[in-house]
Amino acid sequence: MDDRHPPARQVLTGGVVVTMNPTREIFAPGTVVIEGGAITAVGPGPAASRDDDVIVDCGGHLVMPGLVNAHTHTCMALFRGLREDAPRDAWAGYTLPHQDRARPEDYYWGTILGGLELLHNGVTTVADRFGHMDVIAPAIDTVGLRAVVCHTVADRARRLELDRARALIERWGVDPARRVHAGLGPHAPDTCSDDLLRQIRALANETGARIFIHCAQSASELAALRARGHEGAVRCLRDTGLLGSDVVAAHCLYVDADEIRLLAETGTWVAHCPASNAKIEARVAPVAAMLRTGVRVALGTDWAPTNNGMDLFDEMKTAGLLGKVGADDPTVLPVARLLEMTTIEGARALGIDAHAGSLEAGKRADVIALAMDGLHLQPWHDVAATLVYSAKGQDVRHVWVDGRRLIRDGQAVHVDVPGLLDETARIWRRLRAGDA
Ligand SMILES: [Zn+2]
Repeated sequence: MDDRHPPARQVLTGGVVVTMNPTREIFAPGTVVIEGGAITAVGPGPAASRDDDVIVDCGGHLVMPGLVNAHTHTCMALFRGLREDAPRDAWAGYTLPHQDRARPEDYYWGTILGGLELLHNGVTTVADRFGHMDVIAPAIDTVGLRAVVCHTVADRARRLELDRARALIERWGVDPARRVHAGLGPHAPDTCSDDLLRQIRALANETGARIFIHCAQSASELAALRARGHEGAVRCLRDTGLLGSDVVAAHCLYVDADEIRLLAETGTWVAHCPASNAKIEARVAPVAAMLRTGVRVALGTDWAPTNNGMDLFDEMKTAGLLGKVGADDPTVLPVARLLEMTTIEGARALGIDAHAGSLEAGKRADVIALAMDGLHLQPWHDVAATLVYSAKGQDVRHVWVDGRRLIRDGQAVHVDVPGLLDETARIWRRLRAGDA
């Protein structure tokens, strides 16, 4: 069978099914029925089967929705592990000078590398942003992820970048039902003038695109905004029309109580990236205060150079641990909440919860199955506790996106992995030689 094209009907049977549906039902065992690219039934026990069904025995596996990474730059897997322990404000040094020498096609292969890593770790959806989206978005499509893709726009080369952002929207559309669709990606309040931020809001209103922006990610950003007359990054977004339920603000490290209230009142989403924040800025976002105030929070890995893994299971654990330290309170960031942040809440942040984020009839079939027999997972008492604090991306054995089983028994079925490793090695021979 060619796994790249879903069979008529797949019946995933015998596994523990964690639905993340509105009542958070768990069926042990349960069945998920996939027809074409959609889920048509989820329930307890076995389903009545037909002769032409493809039965997938999920005995010994935990079956759950594919995870949603609310902030990443997939292509930057290519630049992982170049530098560590840099001072604040030196984050560009995590990838320079090599990034300056990279060719657009290098970002294509970086995206295939990062995208495949994400799939292996059970991540089926990303909010991705970078330059070179003309090569990155097709790579995301090829690797099979669900994604909202944004071309980064800043004051530098503003007119050209805005044209590219418009072209990306024209090419991919903004319909959240499309597996790959486009959003708007203003870089950050300090690298975008007030005028540009207002222009982005107008473009969002005109096209219906969601907005993804870095916000309050560094002390230097805050200093630059204060020099421009803004009291803070969130206040800057308020003054330029960029707060709202269609906005996902990544990081939000330097925010005061009034700004947390602003985020909550406007329904603005926060994409929390604790590992990257700890590494670049040695700081924890005030997530417990945000949740207490009613801010909607999803989780992201950010880019590989400062994470360095692209594993949302790791990120849930990091968010839990650092959130408790940051709040000086071990009761905050409960496991059930962390699990929501990477599934249904992540899907809501991206505006795709009608299509992904839970296992429910009518949604697209983005499903992962984890082997439950790892010694590090024993014994199973509380599913959320085990998934947040014990599970790893490497426990994921099968991954479906849109009903296509892209990872089968821990192996990608649609990417030539030895060829990908050869490409990566070839790119690095050239970059290390300083040959553009
Ligand atoms: Zn980022």
